Amino acid sequence: MTLMAAVGLVVAGGAVTMSACVATGQNATGARLEVIKASPNWRDGRFVNSLPTEKAGVFESLGKWLRGADHSAPDSPPAMVKRVASDFHVAPETGLRITWLGHSSLLVEIDGHQVLVDPVLSERSSPFTWAGPTRFQATPLSIDELPTIDAVVISHDHYDHLDHRTVQALGERVPVYVVPLGVGAHLEYWGVPPERIVERDWWGEVTVRDLTLTATPARHFSGRSLVMANQNQTLWCGWVIASSKHRIFYSGDTGMFPGFADIGERLGPFNATLIEIGAYDALWADLHIGPEQAVRANQQLGGGLFIPVHWGTFDLAMHSWTEPAERLLVAAEQAGVAVSIPRPGESIEPAAPPVLTRWWPETPWREGRDAPIVSSGLDEAEQVRGAQAVDPPPGLTTSGQLPDGDDLHRSPHDPAVVITGGRHE
Ligand SMILES: [Zn+2]
Ligand SMILES: [Zn+2]
Repeated sequence: MTLMAAVGLVVAGGAVTMSACVATGQNATGARLEVIKASPNWRDGRFVNSLPTEKAGVFESLGKWLRGADHSAPDSPPAMVKRVASDFHVAPETGLRITWLGHSSLLVEIDGHQVLVDPVLSERSSPFTWAGPTRFQATPLSIDELPTIDAVVISHDHYDHLDHRTVQALGERVPVYVVPLGVGAHLEYWGVPPERIVERDWWGEVTVRDLTLTATPARHFSGRSLVMANQNQTLWCGWVIASSKHRIFYSGDTGMFPGFADIGERLGPFNATLIEIGAYDALWADLHIGPEQAVRANQQLGGGLFIPVHWGTFDLAMHSWTEPAERLLVAAEQAGVAVSIPRPGESIEPAAPPVLTRWWPETPWREGRDAPIVSSGLDEAEQVRGAQAVDPPPGLTTSGQLPDGDDLHRSPHDPAVVITGGRHE
């Protein structure tokens, strides 16, 4: 059963449980809301994308979703590497090790720091314990086996990235949650002390020990309410995690937009780019990038080993469950982009990636040319960006690089490069 099918049943039946109400979180109020209202990305009571999105009708999307797709979930649990605490006792030889925990959940070990990204370590991606998408395979690393964590980084408040039960189970293990604007309200509602929550706007930075975490623009949306009551009340973003020796980019959820070139220019180059490749559909091509555009995003970011996320774990769309990986391999080979596709639970050291193995079964899939994902508005946006490059914003050179010694990009409220003046919706 898809999440939306579960939601439809529950809402129709009026059977929303108390725990589900808690899991939906709450909107920001007070000082948190005042910071939101001052954001350049907040307009008319909601966050907006720099490049507006075109949305399919809810009923069109819902109808297609409910019809489902062949092979959208595996027949039996796919390969998985079960990990235990002792696997992480010795630091990675190369200084950077990335462990995929399924979907968009990652353990990043980077020069003596451990960062957990979008941890969803429950069995379901849903407000309910009894309905909604279940994992294709068990969680590869249980919370009790986690190493010491320096920070948890969240990209946005959708259920497959921010999980109430995981936050509760992590408890005291998390010294700080680093999140986009507004997401802190959910965490606070769930009992995380406010002093352990840091919120940032796009381009905002947080220093955690010797790491710099930077929120980067994305093209997506947000909201946890089952009746869409709180859509876009919290921000969505990607993150750059940087030590003095290594830098990685994590896309969060995003459609294609010209922001990747800006991110690469300001914060790259990257040892690895962790970009979402699944849950795409032509009906919401502005919200999920799809494998072919994801490869282009990697190139616009300036390269780095492509490690895919947001696939192979939950049944969230109408493509076969292996299609994102198959299409990624084709697109990456055509573009000459280096790819590592870990098993759930497998660790990758980008300086010494393992030989690529097809660990998933042969399953029917559609080629990119037969079911293309093309985000809207890109040609016009590229033209605007080209014009901006001739007349750069203060502090930036024509290449978008910061002049030597300029610390402009270290301001938490350094506004995003405006790509277009268009309005959302
Ligand atoms: Zn999302
Ligand atoms: Zn997602």
